[in-house]
Amino acid sequence: MKIIAKKVGIINYTLKNGNGDTLDTSEGGEPLSYIHGMKNLIPGMEKVLEGREPGEKFNTVIPSEEAYGNRKEDFVNQVPLSNFPEKDSVKAGVQFEAKSEQGSRIATVVDIQGETVTVDFNHPLAGETLHFEVEVVDVRDATSDELSHGHVHTGCCDH
Ligand code: ZN
Repeated sequence: MKIIAKKVGIINYTLKNGNGDTLDTSEGGEPLSYIHGMKNLIPGMEKVLEGREPGEKFNTVIPSEEAYGNRKEDFVNQVPLSNFPEKDSVKAGVQFEAKSEQGSRIATVVDIQGETVTVDFNHPLAGETLHFEVEVVDVRDATSDELSHGHVHTGCCDH
């Protein structure tokens, strides 16, 4: 079975930056399962997985435009310390999930001056060219529940 829209692709992957540092990998854990064509993955990754079959291994380089986008300097904002529920855990370099009406995103604390926290709301991988090693492990049909939810159900407690 080939990876096409509405199929579940099951892949192993290793993500490296341009310096060859490993940023993320499925090695040592479960492979990643996703529904093709439902924006579960970054656009550049869906593009290179289209039509692939189990057993295929390949390397791919994805520019930031097709990954997490370019950095936007106006996404670096100052936020009052009082907005954080756990003030003690607010430290430079700490990442947290910021929720807004547009959904949630990963944000990074840049600096703290008194009661003012500088926060970078860019995705941590914004502006990065991503280097992936990919292996297609399996391809299966998605269930009707998975298609209506737009994501894969793998364990006991998915919703
Ligand atoms: Zn669900």
